[in-house]
Amino acid sequence: MTGPATTGPATADEIVRIEGLTKTYGAVRAVDDVSLSIPRGAFLTLLGASGSGKTTILMSIAGFVQPSAGRIVVAGRDITHVPANKRGLGMVFQGYALFPHMSVGDNVGFPLRVRGGKRAVDRDRVAQALALVQMDHLIDRMPDALSGGQQQRVALARALVFNPAILLLDEPLSALDKKLRADLQWELKELHHKIGTTFIYVTHDQDEALSMSDNIVILRDGRIEQSGAPGTLYHRPASRFVADFLGKSNFIPGTAAPDPSGGITVTTRGGQLLSKALADDEAAPAGPCLMALRPENITVTHTPLEGHNTVEGTITGVSFFGADHQIMIETPALGPVTARSHALRGAVAPDTGARVCVNWRPGDWRAVADR
Ligand code: ADP
Ligand code: MG
Repeated sequence: MTGPATTGPATADEIVRIEGLTKTYGAVRAVDDVSLSIPRGAFLTLLGASGSGKTTILMSIAGFVQPSAGRIVVAGRDITHVPANKRGLGMVFQGYALFPHMSVGDNVGFPLRVRGGKRAVDRDRVAQALALVQMDHLIDRMPDALSGGQQQRVALARALVFNPAILLLDEPLSALDKKLRADLQWELKELHHKIGTTFIYVTHDQDEALSMSDNIVILRDGRIEQSGAPGTLYHRPASRFVADFLGKSNFIPGTAAPDPSGGITVTTRGGQLLSKALADDEAAPAGPCLMALRPENITVTHTPLEGHNTVEGTITGVSFFGADHQIMIETPALGPVTARSHALRGAVAPDTGARVCVNWRPGDWRAVADR
């Protein structure tokens, strides 16, 4: 498990610190000893399958779930026992949850009215918040006359109207169709960039997490499996779980041994010797190991590629995805392998039944923990 420092005094740029957060419901450990540090202005995503504890962590930060153990510190202040309405955090949920009997403007102004704001000032702030999400021209509309995407924009404006330092978002786009979701992902990212508010975002969608976040925390059964920047998690997964959860991977069991030339040799179960180059940050695997190899790091050819590991195989299936092909290859040395290659840019037009070479560079696979 890797992640940001979790103990010691708050650093100047840390806005949220969670220490040993645990929430149990009877025998269920919804959240199990989670610690993390969130830098001010970050776009941090809690990513995990359904039931992994994402909402429980977010609700604990919001104050709607009382932790069984642990502390939550915001801007240096322990808020673990502060009521939700005194925390001053903005929230957006999966459902739009707009008040159906109020206009867009009244919906967005609601948090200000609850706080007893001045009407004239409030009107300006409502207009500003709606302008942030390009909805100011619809200020007098009723929610039922808005599309799903527009309703979610209004919900965002409502959460931002009192300029919270932190915005909590729980799967805000999951009710939208794919195309609209992609548009709103982009808009959310731009909005984050523009206003500089810290975003704590929850999703079960890997692509969404990779494309939007500065930092991702991968949750598994209420615990942090690994955290880091999207590129780090994708290219340096610590475990089989992470390599498989973020994108796709082939897993190759073998035995690692130092190679006289300074690299590593991996002997497959079938007895084939393959080479492994180490990245700067990478510990050398030794003994029984599990290697992860991304489909896009494989080149399928008719003859072995120089400077690569090569195993032979037969194409058993091809799926066309528009921009690229997914090619399934049965190899005596490794069993079934999946490759992904750009349409017609690869050296082989993939045909089922063709005898091919599966090639990858010695630096393009990584040892991962088998868990
Ligand atoms: P996620 O948001 O990742 O889907 P949750 O935080 O909602 O996960 O839930 C984590 C686990 O805690 C699940 O097993 C869920 O069933 C359980 N859980 C969540 N809330 C409650 C509750 N109020 N009572 C009992 N169990 C709960
Ligand atoms: Mg949830």
